[in-house]
Amino acid sequence: MRSAGWWKLASMSRTEAGPPRPERRLIGIPACAGVAIGPVFRTVEPPAVITRNRIHAADINGELSRLETAILQSRKQLLKLRNRLLVLPEESQGEIAPLLDAYLQMLGPSRLVRGARSRVQDRLVSAETAVMEEANAIAGVLSAVGADAEGEGSKRQAEEVREIGRRLVRNLTRAPFRSFADCLQGSILVAEALRPSDAALIDPARIAGVATEEGGTDGHTAILLRALGVPSVLGAPGLLTGLQGGEIIVIDGSLGSVLINPLPSSLTASRRAVDAFARERQRLGRLRRLPAVTLDNETVELQANLELPVELPMIAQSGATGIGLLRSEFMFMNRDTVPNEDEQAQSYRRVVETMQGDPVTIRVLDWGGEKEIEALTAAGLVPDLVDSNPALGLRGIRLLLRQPALLEVQLTAILRAAAAGPVRVLLPMVTNVAEVQAARVIYHRVAQRLRDSGAPVPHPLPPLGIMVETPGAALSADALAAEAEFFAIGTNDLCMYALAVDRGETDVADLYDPLHPAMLRLIQFTVEAASRHRIPVSVCGEMAANPAMTPLLLGLGLRSFSTNASAVPRVKQAVRSTTIDDCQRLTWQVMKQTDPARTRELVAGFGS
Ligand code: PEP
Ligand code: MG
Repeated sequence: MRSAGWWKLASMSRTEAGPPRPERRLIGIPACAGVAIGPVFRTVEPPAVITRNRIHAADINGELSRLETAILQSRKQLLKLRNRLLVLPEESQGEIAPLLDAYLQMLGPSRLVRGARSRVQDRLVSAETAVMEEANAIAGVLSAVGADAEGEGSKRQAEEVREIGRRLVRNLTRAPFRSFADCLQGSILVAEALRPSDAALIDPARIAGVATEEGGTDGHTAILLRALGVPSVLGAPGLLTGLQGGEIIVIDGSLGSVLINPLPSSLTASRRAVDAFARERQRLGRLRRLPAVTLDNETVELQANLELPVELPMIAQSGATGIGLLRSEFMFMNRDTVPNEDEQAQSYRRVVETMQGDPVTIRVLDWGGEKEIEALTAAGLVPDLVDSNPALGLRGIRLLLRQPALLEVQLTAILRAAAAGPVRVLLPMVTNVAEVQAARVIYHRVAQRLRDSGAPVPHPLPPLGIMVETPGAALSADALAAEAEFFAIGTNDLCMYALAVDRGETDVADLYDPLHPAMLRLIQFTVEAASRHRIPVSVCGEMAANPAMTPLLLGLGLRSFSTNASAVPRVKQAVRSTTIDDCQRLTWQVMKQTDPARTRELVAGFGS
C-alpha cells in the first residue's frame, strides 16, 4: 500500500533532504516476488521485559549456566555476522569489523561478564537482571567520562556496552525481537534478520516490502513473507552498512536486488516495474475461475497453504480448491500461553467454514527448527534449544508424542471443527512407522472421548496422513503408506535434510537445490509408493509454488499441489499450458542426468 507522501519522499531523498547520497545496489536472495519502493524503516527493538528478578541461593548454578549459554549464543551470532562481512568491499569491512570485534571482546573475560556473574552469586538476581544492571553500571561510568573533555570515545563505548547487554538479555529472555507499530505506511522494513514469529506480525497493508541481511529462500520467514505477499529480499550482505532510516530503497523480490538511494532514472525504471507487476497479477487473477487441467485433459488439484488467518481472503480469491496445508503454528506464536481447545476449535472451524466444503488439511503443531514458540517455552513444554541442534531435535511429531496432552487438545479441536466441513489431519516430521501408529492410537482415543461426551464426530474419521519431509520417511514410504491415509511431500525440509543444507541459512543458500538428483529420486520413490498403496499424495513445499517445476512434478506423477495463495494462478497457468506426455518426456530426460546444471537447463528450456 502506498501512503500519500510516498512519491514525495522518494524525490525528497535526493533534493530537499540534504546532499544526495550515492546510489547503492546490492544482491540478495529473492524471497517474495514483486517490486516495492519506499522509505527505510529500521525496526525498533522493544525494551527487554525482565519478569524474573530475584533467585534463590539454590538456583545460582542454574542461573550461571543460563548466562554462559546466552554468552555462547551471542558470540555465535556475532561471529556469523563477522564471517559474512567477507563478501563486502574492503572499506565497508573496515567500518564494521572493529565494532563486531569490540562486541566479541565484551563477551570474553570482560568486566561486563565478570560483573554479571558476581551479581548472580552475591546479590541473588537472575542472569538477565545481572546483565542489565552491570551493563548500565559500566555504561553510566563511561558516559560520565564522556561528558567531560575526553568526550566521544567513552560515549561510544557506553553505547556498545548497552548494546551487548541488550543482546544478552534478548537471548536470555527470548523476547520477540521486533516492534513494527510506529512504521510509516508504505515503508520498507529493513533488519539484520527476522524470525518467523516477527514476520507473522507484519501488516501487509502497512509494510510495502522487506529486506534483511540474513535468511534463506525456503526458511519459514521467507514462507511467511510469501504468504503475506510482501515483496522481499533476504540475505543481502552489507544492507545495513551506513543505511539511515527514511532513505529511499527499492527492492525487487523477483530478482533479489536492493537499490538504496536510487537515482531519478533508476526510480523511473522501478516505478515501471511496480506497474508491470500489478498488471501481471491482474492478468493471472483472470485465471481464477478456469479449471486446472492440462492440454490433454488431466485434472490437477491446486490447493493453498495457510500460515496466518489474514491469508483467508487471499486464498478465497486465488481459485484454490481447498487448503492443502494449514500450518497450525500461527496459533501458538506471539502469545504467552498455549491456546486452549476452545480457542483452537473456533479458529479451525472458521477456516473450514470459509472454505465452504473444500477440504482443509490441518497439520498438527510442528514446533522446532527455526520455529521457536515462546508460549511453549514458558509452559515448560519444550527443552532448552540453545545448545542442541534444533532441526535434528525434538521437532514436529516427536515433541507431540512426548507431550501427548498437546496433541490430544489439538486433535480434539480439529475433530470438533470437522463437524463444519471436510478436514484431513497431517502429522509433521515423521520418520518412522511407530510414530504414526502412536499418533493414531491417540487420535482414536480422542475421537472416542468426544463421542462419549455426545459431541458429533465424523464417521469415518477424517483421514490421518503424514508429511514426507525427511529422507528416512521417503525411503520407507512403502511401510509408511500402510499406516498413513495420505502423503504430503514437504520439499522444504526434504531438501534441507537430504542435502544437509539449512533452509534458512544465507551462507549455503546456493547449495539448497530442489533439482538435485537425490531430491528428485526421493520424490519419485514417495510418489511410486503412494501409487502402489493407492493413497493420495500431494506436494506442499515451496517447490510446488514454482511454475517452472510444475511440468517436472507432473511428469513424476504428482497431480496435487498446495502453494501460497499468490502462486496458485501461476501454477494453474503452467498446468494449462502443457500435456502430461510432454511432462513425462521431460522427467525421463531429467532423471537420466547426473549434473544438476544440465537438469536446470532442461527444466528452464521446457516448452520453449
Ligand atoms: C516442508 O517442509 O516442505 C513443509 C511444507 O513444511 P514447513 O515448511 O512448515 O516445514
Ligand atoms: Mg517441513
